[in-house]
Amino acid sequence: MKSIKTKFVTFAIIAISIPSLSLGLLSYFKNEKLVKSHVTRELRVLASNVSRELDFWINENYHAVSVLSVSGLIINELTSSSRDSVNKSSNYQGSRQLVLSKYLSSFQEKLPTIIELTIFDLNGNVVASSIPESLNRVFSGNEQKDMLTNIKIKPPYRNGRYDTAVLELYAPVLSYDEKVIGSILATLNMEKFMNSLVDNADFALGEITLLGPSGNILLSSNPKINYSTSLASETLKRLQAHSGNALTFRGLTHLKVLGLIVISKEAPIIVLVERDHGEAIATWIELRNLFIGLVGLLIVIVGGIAFYIGHSIVASLSYLIEGTKRILNGDLNVQINEVKADEIGQLTSSFNKMTEKLRCSQAEILAAHEAMQKQNQQLKILSVTDSLTGLYNRNKLDAIFIDQLARFERNHRPFSVLMIDIDHFKKLNDSHGHVIGDEILISVSQAIGKSIRSVDFAARYGGDEFVVILTETDAASAVITAERICAQVAINVNSQIKEISASVTLSMGVIQCEIDDKTSKNILSRVDDALYKAKNSGRNRIYYEHHPNE
Ligand code: GH3
Ligand code: MG
Repeated sequence: MKSIKTKFVTFAIIAISIPSLSLGLLSYFKNEKLVKSHVTRELRVLASNVSRELDFWINENYHAVSVLSVSGLIINELTSSSRDSVNKSSNYQGSRQLVLSKYLSSFQEKLPTIIELTIFDLNGNVVASSIPESLNRVFSGNEQKDMLTNIKIKPPYRNGRYDTAVLELYAPVLSYDEKVIGSILATLNMEKFMNSLVDNADFALGEITLLGPSGNILLSSNPKINYSTSLASETLKRLQAHSGNALTFRGLTHLKVLGLIVISKEAPIIVLVERDHGEAIATWIELRNLFIGLVGLLIVIVGGIAFYIGHSIVASLSYLIEGTKRILNGDLNVQINEVKADEIGQLTSSFNKMTEKLRCSQAEILAAHEAMQKQNQQLKILSVTDSLTGLYNRNKLDAIFIDQLARFERNHRPFSVLMIDIDHFKKLNDSHGHVIGDEILISVSQAIGKSIRSVDFAARYGGDEFVVILTETDAASAVITAERICAQVAINVNSQIKEISASVTLSMGVIQCEIDDKTSKNILSRVDDALYKAKNSGRNRIYYEHHPNE
């Protein structure tokens, strides 16, 4: 059996959980989508801005190098070096190279993002360089071809010498008659570009990493980045397929990030922007945790209230149940305290009134039962008693005979029977009246009662006849009792009833029960015969006839 308390609490939890959780889940997914789209938008703006800045930075530097390429000093030097290289002494050439290299250094100083400027001729020979080490640089055939066919930007790479990412761009040098006579190679320090971004608060919305075409890491705004690693090619492919859209993937320094890529228009550089997934959706997670906390708190509060209500109902009901059980077990002394004024209180009050009524009814029933028992007792006595004399009546006599015969059959101890009749009672009646006659009957009955033992039985057989059963008594003892009765009558009746001039005498027949006495009828017939013989032989006597078996 489930308690009301459990049902209340279960209901409260379900009533809160279902709407809260369904609303929560709905807003969970909606908010997640909203937060992700917001972050995506921010990342997209960031990546586009970085890419635009990068393109602008490249163009700016290219423009500077282009300006340098039309410098008269460089054009003249390249023109004369190609024309006079055979005729001039190496010392002369060395001094000219020194002048040009200084010129390049002074130009480079004005543009801090350029870390190296080198001029070379149509044959790929270095004519001058701002860095002395580059004077011995040898260009491969392919490089030389690139430099002269106007491919202005080389794929960026991490330069070991400068320990940073560099971008190399070329500007062809044209003669005054518009012919390519050489080229200027400028090496740009990409860190300068990255630093300008890092210093700008507008670019702080995510981590910015510049990647080479194969996903190799060039530079990152994250100082913890490991430049020997690269973005997983699988991730790069996915990002390229969804260029401009944010995806969730394993980041360069974080386990899970939200990020996207944008490819530069000017250089083979991939701009990767990413943000730690947990951090990106932190507000949303905070909101979710707050929601879970609130729902939990609500469940606890409402569950607690439901438990309290259930408990108060169950506690009151348990008193009523206990009271009902006590009533069922017959204990009506039940009184329950009415603590509350609510429906339970009303029920308790009705219960108490009902018990009070039951108590009254029970008392009445008990009294009636007692009276009835008394009446029954009286009726029982009356049913076996002769109303005038108070002796047993004839009905009872039959029952006594049945019982005595059964005992005799069991234990073979004989009982004896006296049949007593008042002599000439009719005459007494006639001469003194029926009232005196009744008094004589009562007085004789009392004399009989006084003369027998408590275990013996005396009954009025009818009219002025009495039968006495003497239990476990043989005929000889019975005769003695009969004589005692006669003597008692002589004393009692004659002294009690003064109106009688002549004395009241009795005639008695006495028998002892025998083995062939099977019924009361049989015994009564034998004792009646004995009485008859007492009457016939002169009255006022006891007649005992021996049984043929004796
Ligand atoms: P016997 O010696 O032969 O017995 O003569 P008897 O006159 O006693 O004769 P019997 O036994 O026949 O008479 C009984 C009388 O007892 C008859 C009747 O009027 C009277 N009697 C019977 N019942 C009552 C009673 O309840 N009260 C009174 N007063 N008389 C009764
Ligand atoms: Mg008589």
